[in-house]
Amino acid sequence: MVFRNIRERFGIDDLDYKESLTRSQPLPDDSSGKSGAKFYLSSDRLFIIKTLTSEEVERMHSFLKHYHPYIVERHGKTLLPQYLGMYRLTVDNAEHYIVITRNVFSNHLSTHRKFDLKGSTVDREASEKELEKDLPTYKDNDFVKQKLKVYIGDEAKQKLMETLTADVEFLTKLHLMDYSLLLGIHEVERGEQESQREKENEQENACQESDESETGSGLDNRNYTTYNTPPDSPNAIAQFVREHSLQYEGGIIPELDIYAIPSCETAPVKEIYFVAIIDVLTHYGVKKQAAKAAKTVKYGSNVDGISTCDPEQYAKRFMEFMSKAIE
Ligand code: AMP
Repeated sequence: MVFRNIRERFGIDDLDYKESLTRSQPLPDDSSGKSGAKFYLSSDRLFIIKTLTSEEVERMHSFLKHYHPYIVERHGKTLLPQYLGMYRLTVDNAEHYIVITRNVFSNHLSTHRKFDLKGSTVDREASEKELEKDLPTYKDNDFVKQKLKVYIGDEAKQKLMETLTADVEFLTKLHLMDYSLLLGIHEVERGEQESQREKENEQENACQESDESETGSGLDNRNYTTYNTPPDSPNAIAQFVREHSLQYEGGIIPELDIYAIPSCETAPVKEIYFVAIIDVLTHYGVKKQAAKAAKTVKYGSNVDGISTCDPEQYAKRFMEFMSKAIE
């Protein structure tokens, strides 16, 4: 009942939700949490499916008691993960728990770079292994080294900081910390070039197909696009947007790309940013205190930027970093 209400508050239709998760098999994703969680994307790439340990399920239950009233109070205006459902699957007598959240990134605009930002500097760069991935998750030090900024202008920055402040205060009250700001960057020009190339390929394939069908050897390649399987190719996107009377502003479909913020006019590059908070279930408990002690021994007690501190310090440092990173 709580999840159904949360879905309603986040404007997710129950039938669409079910269709997204069940129409076709979810796609494995190579994001991997520290906990060794497995990630999948719904086949229409609107939802993330993440495996949970039974300990995390327990934490989720106590979190939901506070999370649901907060979502109600904020009228759904939050950058916290949108927890939409939690399930237990029993396969061959083994139990698996999964949680469904909304995908922060777009299902039709590619993510060219992504960052997991905490505001900490110690141990905060992508590992060699991570860098081998097609789309590595960069971290704070990579962001600073690459001299990046999120250029969205004063008005959008103010709105974003207000929402972040409310969310971070909520997490701090619950003694939660170690959450991250997930940032995805879509480079508009690069995206356009990719679309152009795809369009050309599509046309080439269409020509080939009509040649083949003339000779009677064409494959059945009909377009099976429905509301729940948003298309990839530029032509199909245009058709999809028309058919569903969606708004389409500079590449962003607001109904779908709820986390998208376009770069401002004065930005040096034209980009679309996808911003939200993830990984919010770490409680400042015995475990954290032990980690803090270990890091203090390793780096000394006065080292600024140790990622393990108390929730209030964590929140302050997190907000300071974001305020500097966003322009
Ligand atoms: P986590 O285990 O929650 O820290 O997530 C690990 C990685 O999975 C993140 O750095 C992201 O790249 C990806 N990820 C997690 N949650 C989401 C989400 N809701 N939308 C998109 N990507 C996600």
